[in-house]
Amino acid sequence: MDIFDKYEGLAARRAQLLGAGTDPFHLEIEELHGPCEATIAGRRTILLGTNNYLGLTFDPACIEAGVEALRRCGTGTTGSRIANGTYVGHRALEAELAAFMGRRAAIVFTTGYQANLATIAGLAGAKDTIFVDSDWHASIFDGCRLSGATVVRFRHNDPDDLDRRLERNPTPGGVRLVIVEGLYSMLGDVARLEEIVAVKKRYGAFLLLDEAHSMGVFGARGRGVAEAQGVEAEVDFVVGTFSKSLGGVGGFAVSDHPRFELLRVAARPYMFTASSGPATIASVRAALAQIVARPELRERIWANARRLHAGLARAGFSLAAPPGPILSIRLPDEQTALLAWNRLLEAGVYVNLALPPGTPGGVCLLRCSVSAAHTDEQIETVLQRFAALSAELSRLERAVAAE
Ligand code: PMP
Repeated sequence: MDIFDKYEGLAARRAQLLGAGTDPFHLEIEELHGPCEATIAGRRTILLGTNNYLGLTFDPACIEAGVEALRRCGTGTTGSRIANGTYVGHRALEAELAAFMGRRAAIVFTTGYQANLATIAGLAGAKDTIFVDSDWHASIFDGCRLSGATVVRFRHNDPDDLDRRLERNPTPGGVRLVIVEGLYSMLGDVARLEEIVAVKKRYGAFLLLDEAHSMGVFGARGRGVAEAQGVEAEVDFVVGTFSKSLGGVGGFAVSDHPRFELLRVAARPYMFTASSGPATIASVRAALAQIVARPELRERIWANARRLHAGLARAGFSLAAPPGPILSIRLPDEQTALLAWNRLLEAGVYVNLALPPGTPGGVCLLRCSVSAAHTDEQIETVLQRFAALSAELSRLERAVAAE
């Protein structure tokens, strides 16, 4: 028996995807022309699936800060946070993140994925129960597994179902931790936090909120969905990432809990991996300063989101959620989704293709993410290409119906 035999099903599925055109899961970006345009397969392409919500990846201040840190501190820390990998910049960023999020303390991790792994596995142990929304991101799933806690899934964004499950699982001798996301990354829907918070309070549970996709975009100061819904005081732990609105790579967790810092000596994904490089930390610090100084970035992404949502709906597409930074289009089946994704790419528009089992409820999606840096012309061009796609999909549907 070969060691890769277990992946036969996966290999067959991959071959099928490749047969339909470009490999949607290993696309190569040949050259970048700014935050929202690149050359892909020799073609100038508008990027509409990057999570670059505020478009800060090419911000001059962020680039300058990164370059300066590279020269001053070198290319990498070559060590973990608990050895030689904590520089002044890591500590400064933690202080700035805590201040930005209005919290007592922040901890920086090497990726957003590790932020969830470390925080969840650090907070919950074998005697505890985690109640997690069933549309969980892979990093939440893996964090739950690493924790060794009992895991109970509740129906997506359903506070009543959470209530029932908390009631049925009193967890004597342990604590209960509820985990939800602010903005769900696949469908782009927003957590019903006010109701979730009321339920968790009733049972004395802790709440961890992943604001990976919402920080920088939601709330009067850009702190996320908890700020927008006025429930920050009831959220015990917030996890976030640097790889979206902040345009870098890395992650963080913040809390007001007086013993929060214990995670630094308890969470393995914090302790046993090298820390982020100086250039990354410096550019993320500069990006955070931009979020504070330029609220117009948030106004711009929301204006773009509303315009794109209205245009896609006019073109006849079925959108999974109201206007927001993530606009997901439902398509009837995998074949149609693959064809649509390839057609858009050929027309110079890149979106994310999201297929089961990676999607909630087995839906097939074209997942678009909007940026504050998209220009009016780019939005207009994208909408024209989608209108052409809609016409082609309708023609195909009629042809199949006539067969
Ligand atoms: N949480 C959520 C909800 C995410 O969508 C992601 C990444 N897409 C992460 C955490 C992990 O973040 P990163 O990619 O920065 O590691």
